[in-house]
Amino acid sequence: MPIDPKLPYDENNIFAKILRGELPCQKVYEDEHALAFNDIRPQAPVHVLVIPKGAYVSWDDFTAKASDAEIANFMRAVGNVTRQLELDGPGYRLMVNMGGAGHQEVPHLHVHIFGGRQFFQMIAD
Ligand code: AMP
Repeated sequence: MPIDPKLPYDENNIFAKILRGELPCQKVYEDEHALAFNDIRPQAPVHVLVIPKGAYVSWDDFTAKASDAEIANFMRAVGNVTRQLELDGPGYRLMVNMGGAGHQEVPHLHVHIFGGRQFFQMIAD
């Protein structure tokens, strides 16, 4: 079920629990501001999620409320992950689902990184 992106941040969402170490993840990258881990249901040979460590429900919440430094650090982290995974040569696809129409399921901002194959068209569903 997609989330309501206007609800307050839920401290018990699954990615908040991963950030607190209460649930495991297959970590691929971590810095002061961001954590990246393998998606549990990969849709490509490489499918990694990058999340900010701050409590932001969605892309909308993040871009409205995060500081310029948080936004810059998070963007840099996404780039760091793609280079660490050596996707910068072959290329990759980024995706952010936002709210109901975007079919966002986890109410903590996450950027999907897809790689390891050729993407010919937009992911529709
Ligand atoms: P979205 O529809 O953009 O909210 O995507 C949520 C993503 O989180 C999906 O691709 C799920 O497979 C993934 N996911 C859900 N739970 C976990 C988990 N515990 N560890 C890793 N990925 C997860």
